[in-house]
Amino acid sequence: MEIAVYGKGGIGKSTISANLSAALGAAGEKVLQIGCDPKHDSTRLLMHGEQVPTVLDYLKDTPLERERIDAVLGEGIYGIGCIEAGGPRPGVGCAGRGIISSFEFLSRHHLKEKYDIILYDVLGDVVCGGFAVPVRREYADAVFLVTSGEYMSLYAANNILRGIRNFDGDRYRRVAGIVYNERKLPGEDGRVQRFAEAVGLPILVKVPRSGVFGRAEEENRTVMELSDCSAEQQVFTRLAEMVTGSLTLYGAAPLSDEELEAAVLLTERTKAKKEDAPEEKPAAAEENISESFGTEAAAPARPPLYGCAFNGAAVTAVHLQDAAVIAHGPDACAFYTLQSITSPGRKNLFKKGILMPSALHPNFESSGMGAAEAVFGGMELLTEKVKAAMERKPGAVIVLSSCVSGIIGDDITAVEELSTSEIPVIALRLDGVLAGDYMEGIRQCRFTLAERLIDRNVTKKDKLVNIVGEVNISGATEQNFRVIRDLLARMGIGIHCRFLNETSVDKVRNFLEAPLNILASESQDNREMEAFLKEKYGCVFLDRVIPTGFEDTADFLRQIGDFFGCREKAEEIIREKKAAYDARIEALKPVFSGKKMLLTTINANIDWLLGAAHAAGMKIVWVGVLNYLRTALCVTNHPEYCEEIDEEFTPGLVFDKIRDLQPDLVITNYTTEPEQGAYIQESLPMAPEAGFNTALSVLERWKTRFENREVKEGDWKNDRELFEKYFA
Ligand code: SF4
Repeated sequence: MEIAVYGKGGIGKSTISANLSAALGAAGEKVLQIGCDPKHDSTRLLMHGEQVPTVLDYLKDTPLERERIDAVLGEGIYGIGCIEAGGPRPGVGCAGRGIISSFEFLSRHHLKEKYDIILYDVLGDVVCGGFAVPVRREYADAVFLVTSGEYMSLYAANNILRGIRNFDGDRYRRVAGIVYNERKLPGEDGRVQRFAEAVGLPILVKVPRSGVFGRAEEENRTVMELSDCSAEQQVFTRLAEMVTGSLTLYGAAPLSDEELEAAVLLTERTKAKKEDAPEEKPAAAEENISESFGTEAAAPARPPLYGCAFNGAAVTAVHLQDAAVIAHGPDACAFYTLQSITSPGRKNLFKKGILMPSALHPNFESSGMGAAEAVFGGMELLTEKVKAAMERKPGAVIVLSSCVSGIIGDDITAVEELSTSEIPVIALRLDGVLAGDYMEGIRQCRFTLAERLIDRNVTKKDKLVNIVGEVNISGATEQNFRVIRDLLARMGIGIHCRFLNETSVDKVRNFLEAPLNILASESQDNREMEAFLKEKYGCVFLDRVIPTGFEDTADFLRQIGDFFGCREKAEEIIREKKAAYDARIEALKPVFSGKKMLLTTINANIDWLLGAAHAAGMKIVWVGVLNYLRTALCVTNHPEYCEEIDEEFTPGLVFDKIRDLQPDLVITNYTTEPEQGAYIQESLPMAPEAGFNTALSVLERWKTRFENREVKEGDWKNDRELFEKYFA
């Protein structure tokens, strides 16, 4: 049988545990007592004052292959096995995790199998996951709550019931009852009695306030070994008989804070408040929430977080190619993040031949926190990692904290003190998911690096631009970058820093050398970044983002030409591109002329498509705009191209419109059910190609579908050759 004795720190649970073990041992039971309090004094009386080495201290210094259970197992009175889990130094690491590591060690060595009764002596103030381990069903068969009549002690007992309720719901009964450790306070009996009644538990025994306990402590003995205290001994003998006899077990029914106050303190205020309060949800329904996950009805009320801030920041920071990025956490977090960095790189290389160096060879490493660091703190390990990275002379060291390092309280900002004038060490306290989701990690990384790295004292150079806010795991980003880079190169303009994409610490430091900045795309995060750079560094931004489609690209080049005094060159490029564009549009006309297009879109600029489709002779019969962002972004500057624009459509309306208007081409992300051959369905690209030819490449792909409606996948995608090269 396994028993967990829980109680508030200092309430006397270790004394009670040791005396109960002694009573059980005296009755001939083979008993193992496991102290789960970082104070590690649970078994002191059983060992007559001798200290057993704690499991955690032992594990810290002992490699796995040299572990021995007898190194931490003491033998106390009546042959009682004595174990102390121990804990880290105060203020570092995680004592709860320490208990988990200790229990793993004990089960590796099958220690419990040698005993009849296992007694866990557990601190009940902190009911984090680690301290709650003994209460899990794989451990405790029965739980004893030790409490005095002090309010905080009863509060802790109630908290323990909450923890048990969390594990058991109302399906299991594992609480044996209350061990009342008397303090002789006024009104104490009544408080404990009322609490017991309110939570529906019996008071198993009352341990009287007695000088005998102090005397036994001084002698480092249990009261069971003294010769003149039969009354106190009888209490523990009775408790031991309950354990070996037939214990009645109860379900945990914790009180709300108001109920606890009302029951224990009899406060009029809280009673009145409770009467006025609306009826509360039953505790069982609240605590069983995890069981209902996965069903539609019990979906969480708040929107889910996608990814973690740690991951988002890592994906961004690795684009400083000469930096060393250190993930402070377990290898598992780094591995998962490494996959998310490298998979777009591999995919784009194999599928499209696009090289993304930061994604293929990320400058990213793990601090490699293990169980020992999770328990004792990981700052020493991190400091060593940062020093080793600095030996390699990177442009900067960037440290990111994961959930584990955050939970155990590692203050990673301390490593910033290792910074030198050449190598700044920048710590981002994200604590995994605590700082937010993936996008928040990207945001924090960009802002921190802009703030910490950009140098104000640089001289501006002519004909240089920075690009700010590219989505840095997308292959489309690289394609678009090349299109814009090549157009600007023809105007004699270079791209200085891509913030943050395939760049370097040096380029970020000299960011202000470029007199003009271009936002990569329209988003709230990008606009915030623009505002920050304008305000902090006086940066100048073009008032349009990287362009899509002919008109947009032409205007973009004109603006840049005006800024750098090379408008004529811009016009020359536009004239040349226009001739080629018109020729390709002419080639599309035989296929598209007179065809009806129906299109649904979210609220974004689709002029790049409408202009080209109109020029190719299509009739745009209906545009449905799903303005779920409720923004003021325009859909088109050319409503004259469209027969009807509906700004508040519903999915049902799409089907009605298809039936009524009989389009040849339906552009939508909704699943529709065309009669065979009635129309072709396509969707708009999520990231349209930048530059003059955005619409041409889309229309030319659609053209192949009109020309041969039976094309097989693998032909029109044009990927069979690549597939066979890499996978066949
Ligand atoms: S930091 Fe947290 S959320 Fe992110 S991978 Fe690690 S454990 Fe998961």
